Amino acid sequence: MYAEVAVNLPPVQGTFHYHLPPDLTERLQPGHLVVVSFGQQRVQGVILRRLEQAEVPETKPVLELVDQAPVLTPAQLDLARWMSEATHSALIECLTLMIPPGLAQRADTEYALCAGEHLARTETDRRLLALLAERGPLRGRQIDRLLPRHAWRKSADRLVRRDAVQRTPVLDPPKARPKRVRNVRLARPPEQVLHSPLDLGRAGSPAAARRRRMLQVLVNEREPVEAFWLYAESGGTLADLHALEERGLVVLSEAEVWRDPLAGVSFVAAQPPALTSDQSRAWQKIQARFGPTGDTGPAVLLHGVTGSGKTEIYLRAVAATLAAGRQAIVLVPEIALTPQTVRRFLARFPGQVGLIHSQLSDGERYDTWRRCRQGELKVVVGPRSALFVPLPDIGLIVVDECHDESYKEEGAAPRYHARDAALAYARQLRATCLLGSATPDLGTYFQAQAGQIELVSLPQRILAHRRDLEAQRDRQIVGAHYRPAGGEAEYAELPPVTIVDMRRELREGNSSLFSRELIQALRQTLEARQQAILFLNRRGSATHIFCRDCGWVLRCPRCDTSLAHHTAPAEARCHRCGYRRSTPTACPTCGGARVRHFGAGTQQVQAEVERLFPQAQTLRWDRDTARSPDQHLLILDHFIDHRADVLVGTQMIAKGLDLPLVTLVGVVSADTGLNLPDFRAAERTFQVLSQVAGRAGRSPLGGRVIVQSYQPDHYALQASAHHDYAGFYRLELEKRKDLGYPPFRRLLRLVYAHTSAQAAEQAAGALAAQLQASLSASGSSSELIGPAPCFFERQAGRYRWQLLIRGHRPLDALPDTLPPGWQVDVDPVSVL
Ligand code: ADP
Ligand code: ZN
Ligand code: ZN
Repeated sequence: MYAEVAVNLPPVQGTFHYHLPPDLTERLQPGHLVVVSFGQQRVQGVILRRLEQAEVPETKPVLELVDQAPVLTPAQLDLARWMSEATHSALIECLTLMIPPGLAQRADTEYALCAGEHLARTETDRRLLALLAERGPLRGRQIDRLLPRHAWRKSADRLVRRDAVQRTPVLDPPKARPKRVRNVRLARPPEQVLHSPLDLGRAGSPAAARRRRMLQVLVNEREPVEAFWLYAESGGTLADLHALEERGLVVLSEAEVWRDPLAGVSFVAAQPPALTSDQSRAWQKIQARFGPTGDTGPAVLLHGVTGSGKTEIYLRAVAATLAAGRQAIVLVPEIALTPQTVRRFLARFPGQVGLIHSQLSDGERYDTWRRCRQGELKVVVGPRSALFVPLPDIGLIVVDECHDESYKEEGAAPRYHARDAALAYARQLRATCLLGSATPDLGTYFQAQAGQIELVSLPQRILAHRRDLEAQRDRQIVGAHYRPAGGEAEYAELPPVTIVDMRRELREGNSSLFSRELIQALRQTLEARQQAILFLNRRGSATHIFCRDCGWVLRCPRCDTSLAHHTAPAEARCHRCGYRRSTPTACPTCGGARVRHFGAGTQQVQAEVERLFPQAQTLRWDRDTARSPDQHLLILDHFIDHRADVLVGTQMIAKGLDLPLVTLVGVVSADTGLNLPDFRAAERTFQVLSQVAGRAGRSPLGGRVIVQSYQPDHYALQASAHHDYAGFYRLELEKRKDLGYPPFRRLLRLVYAHTSAQAAEQAAGALAAQLQASLSASGSSSELIGPAPCFFERQAGRYRWQLLIRGHRPLDALPDTLPPGWQVDVDPVSVL
C-alpha cells in the first residue's frame, strides 16, 4: 500500500508518494499526521489518500505516526483543497491552519558525542564537546540557546568529519502535551497513619518533620490532593513525596486536566425569551433546516438592523442543531470586542462552549482542539480560525457581523475570507451557514438578491432593558417611541441622526473639534446622568505633524507614512510598524520653529471633553489603552457600571455592544477614510457609521446620533443617517457596475515588496509585461491594472508595488508559477 502525503517543509509545495510499512498498513487513514523523510530531513506530512499504486518507481516509507487518531477529518481535507484553489495557495499552507499549534513540528538536527575530547581544535570545539559530554545528545536549537554567540555549527561540521560527533536529523518533540497533574492520596486509613509509629527517615531530622506535615495535610483533606498544593501547605518536596511512596504511605497518580480558559468563570443558564413577531417569522422560515432530516437548503443571510434580535436567532439555531445531535461553530469578529455576545452563548449552553481567542497558549488551544475532536465540546465560538476546529459532525456555521473585515486574512498565505470558506464548508458538510449583519457587504447582499443565499430580515429594533430600567420609572423618559412586539418585548425606533456641516462651523467662527450642536447634546446628556460615546474613525485620520511655514511632514523612516502625534507620553508614533520618536522643535527643511500637529486622535477628543466638562468622567478605548482581552473587558465593564460618562473610542467600539444608558453617539470625524483610493471606501464608511450609530438608543431612554462631516452630502453619510441600507446598496451598486468593480467583476491583487524601491518597481514591471502578453495571446476578457506603488507605499522598511487583474475569472490569468516573492490576494477587501 502507498499513500499520497503533503509534506510540511515550506517552501516545498506539492504532494509525494510514500509506501506504508507493515505495522502501519492497516491503520493509516487520510488525515493522519505522519513523519516521513524528505531528502536528508525528517519532516511532518499529512496523509491525503491511500493508493494501490505509486506513480514513481521508488518510494520511501512513512516513518511513524505523530498522533494515533487522524488530526484532520475528511471534511477538513476537502475544505483545505477548496481553500488552496480559491486562494491560489499551497495545499500544505491550508492544511497547516487546521493542525493545532504544538503538533506542527519543525525539523532539526540532533548532535551526539562519539569520541573523546582530544579531537577538539578550537575553544568552540572544546565547549561543544564538553556540553555534549555533560548533557548527552542535544538538538541544534538547544545548542543555540546553550552556546549563544558561538559559531558552533562550523565546529560541529568539523567534528562530524572527524567522527567525534554524530549528526542525525530529527523533529522537534511536540510542544503541546496534555497538562498532567500529580495527585496524592493516603495509602492507609488515616487512623493508622496518625497513631502507629512510622518510619519517616532519621528521627528528628527536618525531612522527617516535613514528611509528617505532608501526611497531616492528607489526613485533614481526606481526598486526593494536588501535589503542588501539598508542597505549598507542608513545605515538603517531590523527594519527600517519593520517600513516602517508597514506604507505602501514599499513592501518587497522574490525572490529565484540561487547561480550560473559562475555568473559574461561572455562568447562570439563561432561559430563552419568547420570540418577537419578527423573530418568529424569521425562525419559521429557517427552522426546518436544523431538524434531524437535515434538509439544509442554501445559506441564510439574516439581515437585521442593530438590536433587532439576530443573536437570539443564532442561539435558537445552535440549540436546534445540538438537539439533532450535531455541533455548531459560531464566528465572531474578535472575542475581546464582543464579550456580550460570547457571554450569551456561554449562558445558554453551559459547559458545552469552547472559546478560541488570540491570548490562548498553545497548550490551551491544543486542549480545546482535543475536546472538540472527542466530541466533548458542542459549540465553538471564536474568530476566523475557529472555523478549523475538528468537530465530528458540524451542522451549523454562524458568521456574526459577516461584513466585518477581520474575517479576511490579509497578512500571510492563504489569504482566505472566513465568510467564503464558511459558505463552501457548509455546502460540503450539508450544514447550514447562517450569516448575520445590519450592514451586509455588497457582495453577500448581491448573492442574496440573486437567490444564491436566502434573505431573511428582521426590520425592527427590539426595545431591550425595559425591565432593567423599570426600577427607575420616575426618571423622565426621553424620546422613546415603542410598540408591542409580541412576547414580552416591544419594538423601538432607530435613533435619529443629525449631520452637522463642519465647513459651516468653521465659517461661523467655531474651529474647535466639536460642533456647537454636539457640545449642546453632550451637556444635556451629562445633565441627565446618561452616557455618551464619541467615535473617531481612525482609518485615514490625519494626526500628522507638519511645519506650518513650509509644509514639511514628519514621516516614519521605515514606512514613509506620516507619524501620528501623541500627548501621553509626548511623542510621534508610526501606526504601521510601531516606530516612535520625539517631535522635532525645529523644521529640518526651513528651520522654522512652528512644527505642529494637525487633526485629532482619541487623546485630543478626550482632552477636549475634559476641558469643556471638567466634572465628566471620561474613558478612552483604543489600541493604546487596551491590548489584552482582560483590558478590553475592564474598560467595557467600567463603562457599563456607569463609572464613566463619556467613552471615546475608535473602530473597536462599533462592534455589537449593547449599552442601555448610552443616549448620545457623536461621530467626531465621519469622512476620514471616505477619500481613500479604495473601491470599498464608501461601503466601509457606511458600515462603520451605521454600526456606531446603532450603539445609541437601546433602552426606553431613547437616544440620538450627531455626525460631524466636511462632506455632509455624501451618499454614504446620507444613507446611514436615514438608516437606509437599501438606498445605499442601490447607489453603490450602480457605481460599481459603471466602474466594473466587484460584485460585477472580480479582482485579484498581486503585491511585491522589496527593500529597494527600484527592485520592487522592476519586478512589478516585468510581471506586468508577462501577464499582459499572455492575456492578449489568450484573448482573455480580464484586464491588467497597474503596475503602481501601493497607497501604503512602504511597510516595515520595504517598498510595495502592486498589480490588479480584473475580470470574471481573474485566476485564469495567472501563470502556473509566479516569480518568487509575489503575494496573491484573490478578492481583496482592500487595495491600499
Ligand atoms: P442583534 O444581535 O440583532 O444586535 P440582540 O439579539 O442582541 O440583537 O437583541 C437586542 C436586545 O434585545 C438584547 O438586549 C436582547 O437581549 C433583546 N432581545 C432579543 N430578543 C428578544 C426577545 N425575543 N424578547 C425580549 N428581548 C429580546
Ligand atoms: Zn519648514
Ligand atoms: Zn513605520
